[in-house]
Amino acid sequence: MAQSFDVIIIGAGIMGCSTAFQLARRGVKVAVFEKGYYGNGSTGRSSAIIRQHYSNELTARMALHSLEMFQNFDDAVGGDCGYEKTGFLALASAKDRGGLEANVALQKKVGIRTDIISADDLRELMPTLAAADLVSAAYEPDGGYADPNLTVTAFANAARRHGATFFLDTEVTGIRFDGGRVAGISTRADTFSTPIVLNSAGPWGAQVAKMAGVTVPINSCRVQVTFFRRPPQYAAPHPVVVDFVHATYFRSETGGLTLAGLVDPEEANAVVNPDDFNEQLDADFVLEVGEPLVQRFPLIEQSRNTGGYAALYAVTPDWHPLVDELIPGSGFFISAGFSGHGFKLGPAAGVMIADMLTGTSDPLFDRSLFRATRYAENQPVVGQYEYSIAG
Ligand SMILES: Cc1cc2nc3c(=O)[nH]c(=O)nc-3n(C[C@H](O)[C@H](O)[C@H](O)COP(=O)(O)OP(=O)(O)OC[C@H]3O[C@@H](n4cnc5c(N)ncnc54)[C@H](O)[C@@H]3O)c2cc1C
Repeated sequence: MAQSFDVIIIGAGIMGCSTAFQLARRGVKVAVFEKGYYGNGSTGRSSAIIRQHYSNELTARMALHSLEMFQNFDDAVGGDCGYEKTGFLALASAKDRGGLEANVALQKKVGIRTDIISADDLRELMPTLAAADLVSAAYEPDGGYADPNLTVTAFANAARRHGATFFLDTEVTGIRFDGGRVAGISTRADTFSTPIVLNSAGPWGAQVAKMAGVTVPINSCRVQVTFFRRPPQYAAPHPVVVDFVHATYFRSETGGLTLAGLVDPEEANAVVNPDDFNEQLDADFVLEVGEPLVQRFPLIEQSRNTGGYAALYAVTPDWHPLVDELIPGSGFFISAGFSGHGFKLGPAAGVMIADMLTGTSDPLFDRSLFRATRYAENQPVVGQYEYSIAG
């Protein structure tokens, strides 16, 4: 007889593992199927920046809830997530000043520690920054980054301690329905029974939805990250910076490195096959990100580039995820499309998704902003900037 579970999750990224942890601790019999290993998709390649700078109350509250879990990770989950508190700076030009200030006001309202800072404060916080052109900056003292592989593995281990089962190296190849309701899943070798399937397949989210005959607007998009080794006298960690003026972000990495990437809506156009794309760094990318970076962080000119890689964002039309029952009443759910900013939301998203799957009457977060029907209703999620990643 097929093995049976209350819930089957497809994908062991941050979403699948955080959700498995929240379900298992509530006593739900949950299994996670992963075609590779924990963090095989976006999660394992994430820059893993932790910031609360968001334009919507929901995302800001999720970022704050998640931050509190990252800060108390051993108590909240168990183990180490590698949280490094370096502080976070958002830098804006005149065009984005209103958006930046509105975001900070919203964040303060929900209890986030953040402020608009003066040019003098900025120089004091990060003397190595070139800031003469800046009209506005926001600072979060609790911002920083985590280790995405430690984090996802810790969530998986915690889920397992509470009774979750993981099938690694096991690709889900089909979703079975009976009378319009989910009946189970198939792998190449076996079948498993369940009334609830969660598609947490990140950049493969559209592929998995298709197994249930549903089309979702999630594109798998190639993005790149590169590293610079700073001169030894500047080896101390520096704050995370999102520079809306130059459409770049950068943060410290262990070993005196700076990790850098783009904050560029155009990245949504780099649609690739998630099973067959070039994972190597393009030579031009070092210049594409290096040139604006030098203008903001001049010591990069004396730094050595140490390579990088390409990875995948799961991008939706409004750069926000789908968290919903995809076929109403069927037991087929989705939590995918976190569009390049899901790592920091992962701990809270696990609570949101577990509340959805267990039908809690009093959920911690109202997930209606992420409903799957919003595009058809012409009500996408909107933010304060053209850079939807900060929405
Ligand atoms: C370069 C880069 C930088 C980023 N920087 C940040 C950042 O600074 N801050 C931030 O908050 N976010 C960041 N993100 C985004 C964040 O990493 C993602 O939003 C998040 O990791 C998505 O997690 P997920 O669990 O939804 O997807 P994934 O981690 O992609 O997990 C999906 C899993 O599903 C598995 N899978 C797929 N199909 C199947 C199948 N048929 N059967 C079994 N398993 C399957 C895959 O193998 C994969 O492991 C970044 C992402 C990238 C790529």
